[in-house]
Amino acid sequence: MIAPSKPHPPRYVEQHQLLLYCDQPPSLWACDVSAQFAGSTPGECLRRARASGWRIHRTTRTATCPQCSGRT
Ligand SMILES: [Zn+2]
Repeated sequence: MIAPSKPHPPRYVEQHQLLLYCDQPPSLWACDVSAQFAGSTPGECLRRARASGWRIHRTTRTATCPQCSGRT
């Protein structure tokens, strides 16, 4: 058998965590999607979230998950 090789996690890396909860108004449909992104900088977390389909609204400090952003 061939065991999949796991990348060894670096031990000393500055990590930023971005935890997103979908802020879709519950009046439209219920959504409790959340996701967590990590990066070496806060901007990298945001880029990874956007690359995954999340919409981040800086002005209102809200987020919309990929499922909900695809329905609007
Ligand atoms: Zn959502």
